[in-house]
Amino acid sequence: MTNPDKARLKMVEEQIVARGIADARVLEAMQNVPRHLFLEEALSDRAYDDSALPIGEKQTISQPYIVALMTQALALQATDKVLEIGTGSGYQTAILAGLAARVYSIERVKPLALKARERLDRLGYRNVAVRNSDGTYGWGEAAPFDAILVAAGSPSIPSMLVEQLREGGRLVIPVGDRNTQVLQLGIKQRGQLVLSCLTDCIFVPFIGAFAWSADAC
Ligand code: SAH
Repeated sequence: MTNPDKARLKMVEEQIVARGIADARVLEAMQNVPRHLFLEEALSDRAYDDSALPIGEKQTISQPYIVALMTQALALQATDKVLEIGTGSGYQTAILAGLAARVYSIERVKPLALKARERLDRLGYRNVAVRNSDGTYGWGEAAPFDAILVAAGSPSIPSMLVEQLREGGRLVIPVGDRNTQVLQLGIKQRGQLVLSCLTDCIFVPFIGAFAWSADAC
């Protein structure tokens, strides 16, 4: 493949800075994480394309710009504890791990969870825990979280996730129907989320007890 570091620099400039992402720590994280190592070899040539890509099990690695946008919205501090739902390839997990103190990541598809855990270990991410379960329940034992990121499209915001967010904490989640969603940012104030919309988006469905059912997949 073409030099991955150069391709990544071009990705950051043309896809991310050009679309208005300005948080220097987010840009640095996007520059540091080798996206090509989160894909199967056959797709690694396309790793810095402006798109989501297949990762098997009918799931996708998110588009780089969307990863940057969600990460910036979480306004992470180096001391933060983050919950990520929808580990997928582990790419977004790695970005979060470079910006926060600890990341708890949940993936419902077991082979993806195993592969992401192994990959993150191999790449030296020591502040990450990956669990194979239904993320609509959150991760109660590790709560409360400073930030929660949901990487799958949901019909609504599961209440357990709001409960597991600390006061002042941030949550990003795509909410809509199975095909298209609006990426929402919620900030918890006096126990409730104050919501704003970030962009239209298309995520794979959030499947679980408090989101979509698996039947129609
Ligand atoms: N950010 C990831 C992309 C994730 S795609 C990356 O960059 O690779 C969304 C992931 O959410 C898929 O892997 C899907 O299996 C997972 N998912 C869907 N519903 C889930 C649930 N209830 N709990 C945990 N993971 C879920």
